Amino acid sequence: MSNTLFDEKGHLTEVTLRALKCGLLEGNELAIVSEHICSCESCSSAFANSFKDDELAKAPLGFEEEIQCKLKKKKDIEFMFYSLRVTIAASIALVFVFSNTLNLAANTKVGSIKAPNLSIVNSINTDINNFSEKIINLEVFNNEKEKK
Ligand SMILES: [Zn+2]
Repeated sequence: MSNTLFDEKGHLTEVTLRALKCGLLEGNELAIVSEHICSCESCSSAFANSFKDDELAKAPLGFEEEIQCKLKKKKDIEFMFYSLRVTIAASIALVFVFSNTLNLAANTKVGSIKAPNLSIVNSINTDINNFSEKIINLEVFNNEKEKK
């Protein structure tokens, strides 16, 4: 059934949505479908709209817990990497802000001998950027390894 879960555009078919709604999906299928719904706005709204008001109370018992349990482990790892990426991105942004400020200071204060100062600032920034890139590569590498 897994090859009929999605339509040719890569979205969930009506049959899939109905099966999900009726609690007919299990194991891998349920995980795949749930994950798609979590990341796809059009399918999540199609799924939400498939419930009529008087049906909302009939959502399968334990449905949410089951999905969360299945996704939790993976999501925890992903969230950790996501946090790391955000931290790195913020650090890089700070470096850029810092470097602009320093460059500006170098330009305004030092005047004629600004060139050596600038090159020092830029080489420090390059070092920091290289280091950040190494961390990112390491993280991606570890993440890839994790998947295999
Ligand atoms: Zn979709």
